[in-house]
Amino acid sequence: MSELIIKDAYKAFGGLVVIDHLNIHIPQGCLLTLLGPSGCGKSTLLRCIAGLETLDRGQILLDGADITRKPPQKRNIAMVFQHYALFPNMTVAQNIEFGLKIKKMPSEVRAAKVQKVLELVELQAFAAQKPASLSGGQKQRVALARGLVMEPKLLLLDEPLSALDARIRKNLRSQICDIQKELNLTTVFVTHDQEEALAMSDQVVLLNSGRIEQHCSPETLYNSPANEFTAGFIGNYN
Ligand code: ADP
Ligand code: MG
Repeated sequence: MSELIIKDAYKAFGGLVVIDHLNIHIPQGCLLTLLGPSGCGKSTLLRCIAGLETLDRGQILLDGADITRKPPQKRNIAMVFQHYALFPNMTVAQNIEFGLKIKKMPSEVRAAKVQKVLELVELQAFAAQKPASLSGGQKQRVALARGLVMEPKLLLLDEPLSALDARIRKNLRSQICDIQKELNLTTVFVTHDQEEALAMSDQVVLLNSGRIEQHCSPETLYNSPANEFTAGFIGNYN
């Protein structure tokens, strides 16, 4: 079980309020998408959940435990970024293994776990290659594997598909959904792309200036926008 509860979260940078008293409940196994225009606070909220930023006020509960002030490495959360952030001098397998080494896991346990996630993201054949020799989609699968190998309670994906070309984006989109469902992994997915949000999510939160405009199923967002902002955002294909 790992549900995520965000309670009255608030954060400002100087005078700019970026997260404005947000409340979100994400049930176990749900893929929830944070959707909204550039600058609405999606990445900041994700970074606060991961512990890379700290909320000014409010609480984040994972599995009932208050993680609001825990250091990132103790949160049991994996995060994947738009630009992969792989170690260029390590092979694919070494990139994936790195976090397990830090945890001082025995090498045979590490090898078995790396093998398992390589299969999950279908990169067994690339284990010995360096990231530079991979395509964008493959690099992002390595980044995903590097997170999953830690067996996180929560997966955070910050625009993981935005740097990829259209065909690869669609393939990886369905691969992420399949893996997320197979592992029954609670996931927060960030995008500014409404089509992606509608195709991938169990639930969507539409953000505007750090506030929730609508929290509902993708179908409801599309068919019954709650207000003018939602209707305008969904109607305005980018
Ligand atoms: P999004 O991911 O939705 O595009 P962000 O969360 O990155 O939005 O940013 C929300 C707002 O907060 C933007 O106006 C951005 O410029 C500002 N911001 C983000 N991080 C910082 C920071 N470290 N210092 C100051 N302002 C920031
Ligand atoms: Mg962002």
